[in-house]
Amino acid sequence: MAKRTKIKLKHGRELELMRAACHTASQILQEVAAFIAPGKTTLEVDQFAGELMKARGCRSAFLGYRGFPAFTCISLNEEVVHGIGNQRMIQPGDIVSLDVGIVQNGWIGDNALTVPVGEISLETKRLLAATEQSLYDAISFARAGLRLADLCGAVEAHVKPLGFSVVREFVGHGVGRDLHEEPQVPNYRPQGKTPILEPGMTLAIEPMVNAGVAYVKILADGWTVVTEDRKPSAHFEHTVLITDGEPEILTDRPRTALPEQLGI
Ligand code: MG
Repeated sequence: MAKRTKIKLKHGRELELMRAACHTASQILQEVAAFIAPGKTTLEVDQFAGELMKARGCRSAFLGYRGFPAFTCISLNEEVVHGIGNQRMIQPGDIVSLDVGIVQNGWIGDNALTVPVGEISLETKRLLAATEQSLYDAISFARAGLRLADLCGAVEAHVKPLGFSVVREFVGHGVGRDLHEEPQVPNYRPQGKTPILEPGMTLAIEPMVNAGVAYVKILADGWTVVTEDRKPSAHFEHTVLITDGEPEILTDRPRTALPEQLGI
């Protein structure tokens, strides 16, 4: 971790705008998740998301970011993150990781979830449940006075004993006016001293958890991250505000991957 980090704190009017942007991001994520179905292409899903953004008067935080060519990131099965909508058709048994980041009045909301399509394998159900739970475990450490490392460590601490692995090359991040602000939020306990969490910090916490090995590769499109062993990967993300008390999940939504919801 960097020795000195410039973490931007949000208060007052800034925070109200950030809350609103995160609420919009959450609404769009849930609407697009509900649109996912067998027979649709990932391009159709991405275009649907683009229409929703336009209708709500916001724009994608990803489109054009370092040249990223789509409204959302849509990553199927062995794809971890940064998948680009294309002609690939969604099939029963797939999992679709959907990452929606939007800009509204200059402020960004960033969130993601992995959607099961039809009946998925037991191992994949376990993967989804573990990944979503690890996000909420990490959020339980999103409290003023705790170290960032405690929050980060909670993800791996949950999934590793279950036989899963966390991606190390891609991490969560501070978020606000910029998509990627300080600090980095890895899904494992980082080495060295990490910042003490303070009220006003807004963090995108985003476990990326693999069923098999932690190693990943980037496809020839320069974006799509896949697991090296091509086993499935899941991704759940919230933008979270550190307060004086309970963590505030700015992109809050109903949970979707509780074991009882997945029938395990
Ligand atoms: Mg993010």
